[in-house]
Amino acid sequence: MTPDRIPLPRPRDGAVGRAVTAALACVTVLVVVVVLWVSAGGMAALGADGTGLVTAARLTGLVASDLLLLQVLAMARVPWVERAWGQDRLARIHRLLGFTSCWLMAAHVVLVVAGYAVSTGTGVLAQLADLVVRYPGMLLAVAGTALLVLVVALSVRAARRRVRYENWHLLHLYAYLGVGLALPHQLWNGAHFVTSPAATVYWWTLWGCAAAALLAFRVGRPLWLSRRHRLTVGEVRHEASDVYSVYLPGRRLDRLAARPGQFLTWRLRTGRGWSRAHPFSLSEAPRADRLRFTFRSAGDDGGRLAGATPGTAVLIEGPFGTLTEGRRRGERVLLMAAGIGITPMRALLEGMRYADRELTLIYRARSADELVLRDEIDAIAAERGAQVIYLPGPPPTGRASWLTAELAERYADHEALTHLVPELAGRDVFLCGPPPWMAAARAALRAAGVPARQVHDERFGW
Ligand SMILES: Cc1cc2nc3c(=O)[nH]c(=O)nc-3n(C[C@H](O)[C@H](O)[C@H](O)COP(=O)(O)OP(=O)(O)OC[C@H]3O[C@@H](n4cnc5c(N)ncnc54)[C@H](O)[C@@H]3O)c2cc1C
Repeated sequence: MTPDRIPLPRPRDGAVGRAVTAALACVTVLVVVVVLWVSAGGMAALGADGTGLVTAARLTGLVASDLLLLQVLAMARVPWVERAWGQDRLARIHRLLGFTSCWLMAAHVVLVVAGYAVSTGTGVLAQLADLVVRYPGMLLAVAGTALLVLVVALSVRAARRRVRYENWHLLHLYAYLGVGLALPHQLWNGAHFVTSPAATVYWWTLWGCAAAALLAFRVGRPLWLSRRHRLTVGEVRHEASDVYSVYLPGRRLDRLAARPGQFLTWRLRTGRGWSRAHPFSLSEAPRADRLRFTFRSAGDDGGRLAGATPGTAVLIEGPFGTLTEGRRRGERVLLMAAGIGITPMRALLEGMRYADRELTLIYRARSADELVLRDEIDAIAAERGAQVIYLPGPPPTGRASWLTAELAERYADHEALTHLVPELAGRDVFLCGPPPWMAAARAALRAAGVPARQVHDERFGW
């Protein structure tokens, strides 16, 4: 048994400070391009005549490009930024920046063509053809724009659902080519750059840093980590119907500094399809000699991963994710998991610091057979003095709920929470499961008086 009262961790791991600094950096980058535009007489030239339209086109083009840059940086896996925002939030920011930048890019094209057409008294199509043919870098820019529009169109949820994830992800990588092709025309034609060496140096430096960050953190660091830790598949254990645990021995894993609640992106070198990466949370507290993840083999690649043989080499990216003890604010904790969302909770149950009877785990599943890792959970709970509530059973029909149908007949969602968990409002709540279930649980927590800042979640999909 761990001692009754243990010193609690200092709340927060500086994530707020990092998030604010990152946000300020983004705003600064945007302010600089606006200052560039204003200092080149942008404001003064604004108007409905040709010059005015072209000036507005320059601003939309600059800001669109800046947002593209921030979009690239958001997914560059820069550890400092990852720790500040978490990958799921960064993926949502990336998406928002992508759509906003695309609309600004469209406005840029329309305004610049209309502006020159008005100034020269030429038809719009003739003007467009003239710009593309006569100005340096414009053919590249057209190809780049087409690629970016394709990637944005495929990222619309309705379209994304129709494309296999792997194919969508592959096509998504063309966005980098699109950005690369769109960039040169800015420097060769952009009034702000052809007239200002300082602006040109600033712009190239910005993009150079973004490219360097991508190479360093999306290619260099994963290769270096994979080589340093030499993870291999030690064993694949069948946990339940379509759920498997993969045990991965490796070297000096304590230096990976992974924390319970975090995930890594794994590539198992099983032969054909090995380059497909998958994020899986650690399903036990990280150890110096091995890591473990547990996954539901429901999708395309499940069979390949479940069939991995001992000795298979593994490439890793990470650790990522902010669903860790660092987000905690108080002494008492509630872990809430549904389905395969149990994996980070199982790791937190083992690795989090808490005193006797100060942690409760609620584990929801459609049936008792789907309650995986149960023996381990019971053993840890008995040793650490944690309370575990298993809630197997189908959900109610006709209303969103985090409860079983049977419990939902007796309690409203928030009532069940206050009934099951003592001193609920003062607890930090860690949440993981299918998005609709998480939304219902969050609503119940709010209705039960748990402040939003005490609810921490991780989505298994972005
Ligand atoms: C932060 C995080 C932690 C996760 N932890 C676990 C876990 O511990 N156990 C578990 O079973 N599952 C976990 N998942 C979900 C898991 O990554 C997907 O179910 C898995 O990658 C599906 O691959 P597939 O080939 O079997 O299915 P597919 O049929 O290829 O994909 C099914 C769906 O899974 C998602 N997906 C597939 N590949 C990826 C990818 N590389 N990145 C992001 N999403 C992807 C897509 O939304 C896709 O529509 C986690 C996901 C995230 C984002």
